[in-house]
Amino acid sequence: MDRRYDVVIVGAGLAGLRAAIELGEGARAAVISKVFATRSHSGAAQGGIGAAIANEEPDQWEWHMFDTVKGSDYLADQDAVEIMTRDAPNTIFELEHLGVPFNRTPDGRIAQRAFGGHTRDFGKAPVKRACYAADRTGRVILDTLWEQTLRMGVDFFDEHQVLSLIVDEGICTGVVAYELATGAVVAFHCKAVLLATGGAGKLFKTTSNAFASTGDGMALAYRAGAALEDMEFVQFHPTGIYKLGILISEAARGEGGVLRNADGDRFMERYAPVIKDLAPRDMVSRCILKEIQDGRGIGGQAFVHLDLTHLGPDVIGRKLAEIAGFAKTYAGVDVTREPIPVQPTCHYMMGGIAANADGGVMAGDSGTTLPGLFAAGECACVSVHGANRLGCNSLLDTLVFGRRAGAAVRDFIRTTPTPKPSDRFREQTESRLSRLMAADGTEKIGILMAEMQQVMMEHVSVFRQASGLQAALQKIRELRERSNRISIQDQGHCFNRNLLEAIELGHMLDLAEVVILGALDRKESRGAHWREDFPQRDDEKFLHHTMVRLSGRAPELSYRPVTITRFQPRERTY
Ligand SMILES: Cc1cc2nc3c(=O)[nH]c(=O)nc-3n(C[C@H](O)[C@H](O)[C@H](O)COP(=O)(O)OP(=O)(O)OC[C@H]3O[C@@H](n4cnc5c(N)ncnc54)[C@H](O)[C@@H]3O)c2cc1C
Repeated sequence: MDRRYDVVIVGAGLAGLRAAIELGEGARAAVISKVFATRSHSGAAQGGIGAAIANEEPDQWEWHMFDTVKGSDYLADQDAVEIMTRDAPNTIFELEHLGVPFNRTPDGRIAQRAFGGHTRDFGKAPVKRACYAADRTGRVILDTLWEQTLRMGVDFFDEHQVLSLIVDEGICTGVVAYELATGAVVAFHCKAVLLATGGAGKLFKTTSNAFASTGDGMALAYRAGAALEDMEFVQFHPTGIYKLGILISEAARGEGGVLRNADGDRFMERYAPVIKDLAPRDMVSRCILKEIQDGRGIGGQAFVHLDLTHLGPDVIGRKLAEIAGFAKTYAGVDVTREPIPVQPTCHYMMGGIAANADGGVMAGDSGTTLPGLFAAGECACVSVHGANRLGCNSLLDTLVFGRRAGAAVRDFIRTTPTPKPSDRFREQTESRLSRLMAADGTEKIGILMAEMQQVMMEHVSVFRQASGLQAALQKIRELRERSNRISIQDQGHCFNRNLLEAIELGHMLDLAEVVILGALDRKESRGAHWREDFPQRDDEKFLHHTMVRLSGRAPELSYRPVTITRFQPRERTY
C-alpha cells in the first residue's frame, strides 16, 4: 500500500508532536509511531522542564546557559545552548496556554523546584528552575500536545514501525513502515521526513528507558549517510531502583532527598561540597559506584540508599506520588518510612543524528544537509548537552528544537515539488522481510540481544578502559556475524515482535559499534565518558565533537570543532 503526505513525522513523543503543531493546518502531515502515540517515552518523564522564569527565586537565562555549558563539560555548542535557554521561558508559557496543568505556588504562579546542576549566579548555590506537574511532567505535556494535534487533524499511524528511509539520489522522500496489527508494508511518500524517534537506552542491560527506545531513527539516518555525533556520551542516571533500573526522578533529591551509604553517611557532601546531592548526574553516578567499590554499598551489595523519610507524607503525596508508588510496587518500600535501594541506570543518549538548530540533518563536514531529512528530540544531537545533560533540559530540548524543526519543514515543503513516488523501496523492504522470515539459522534474537546488553553494561557504562572497550567491540562484531544466522520463530503477521526485534537488534548493533568506537578514540575523561586509563579531561586534544559516518560498509570517524561563545572551558567543580 502507498500513502502520500507533505510531511511524515516518525515519532509521537514531545519532539514529534511539537513539530506537528508548528506545521500548522496547511500541511498534510502524518505522525507514525511504533507504539500508541501517548505511550511514547516522553510520557514517562517525571521531574520537570527547566526554564529561568524566576517564579520562586531570582534566575536568569544566562545562569541556565552557564549551568548547561558547565554541565556538558564544555562540549556543548554554546550558540545552540543560548537558543535553548533564551527560548525556555516562552516555551513554558506556550505550554501553559496550550493547557498543561503545572503545579502552582501559593499565589498561583507556575511552581518550580531544584534539580541537579542548576544553580544561581554562575554556580553559587542550587536554584529552583524546574517547572513541573507533580512527578508526571512528561505525561501531562504529552497528553496536552496530543490533544492539540488531534484537534488540528494530523493523521496518526500508531503501531506502525518504520523500517527504512526512502532516499533517492541523495534526497529523502519518504519512509517504508510495517503495520504491527496486519504485517502490511506501507510506503509513505512525502516532501520531508522528520525523525523524532527518541533514545537508545535498550543498548544496556539496566535502563530507565521504554522497550521502544532502540535507537531506530539514529540507525536509519546513519545507514542513509548521515553522521552520528558524540555517541560515546551515554548518561547513567544515579537513581534507578536496584536491579530493575526503573527511574526514581532527580526531583526526589530536588525536594530534599539524600543519598546515604552503608554507614548512613550523606556521602555527596564529600564529593560536591556546594551543591551536594544536586551535583550533575555523571558525577553522582560515579560517586555512588565509588562508594560501592570502596565497600560502602548497603550490606556490601551494589546499591546505596535514597532517603526521603524526612520529607513527610504531605510533600511526598503532593509532589512525588508516582515515584512513591514505583518504590512500593517494584521494591516493596514505603518511602515515608524506609530508604529506596538505588543504583545507576542507563538513561539518555547525549549523542545522536548530527543536526543543526533547525533540525537539518548534516551530511558532510562542511555543514551541508541531507535534503528532505530532519531530526529533533533525543534522537538528534544539536549539541546542547555535550558530554553530560542536565536534568530537565531534555524536555526543553524536544520542545525548543521540535518547534524550530517544524518551522523549517513548513518552509521547506512550500518550495519543494512533490516527488515522484516509486514502488522500488517498498518492494525492497518486502523482500528483506521475506528473507528474514525464511531464514533457518540456529541463533535466537533474544539471546543475542541479552549478550549485547550485558557486554555494553560491563564495559561501556560508567567506567571504561581500553581493554574492556576492545573486548566489547570484538563481541559486538561477533554478535553481528551471528545475527546473520538467526531464525524467526513466529511466522505470523499479527504483532510479530520476534521479527521486529530482529530489525531492532540490527539497529542497536550498529549503534553499539559507533558508541564503542567513539569511546575508544576519546582518550580522556569528560562528562559521562570516564576512562579509567585517562582520568583527566584533555582540551588540547579532545575539545571536539566525534562524528561517525558510514564509508561503504565501515564506520569512519572525523571531528567537528566545538562552538564556544561566552564561557571558556574551566575545571569543573561543584
Ligand atoms: C523515565 C524517564 C524520565 C525522564 N524524566 C525527564 C524529566 O523529568 N525531564 C527531562 O527533561 N527529561 C526527562 N527524561 C528524558 C526525556 O523524557 C526524553 O529524552 C524525551 O522525552 C525524548 O522525547 P522524544 O520526543 O525525542 O522521543 P520519545 O518520547 O522517546 O518518543 C519516540 C517516538 O518515536 C517512535 N519510534 C521510535 N522508533 C520508531 C520506528 N522505527 N517507527 C515508528 N516510530 C518509532 C516511538 O513510538 C515514539 O513515539 C526522562 C526519560 C526517562 C526515560
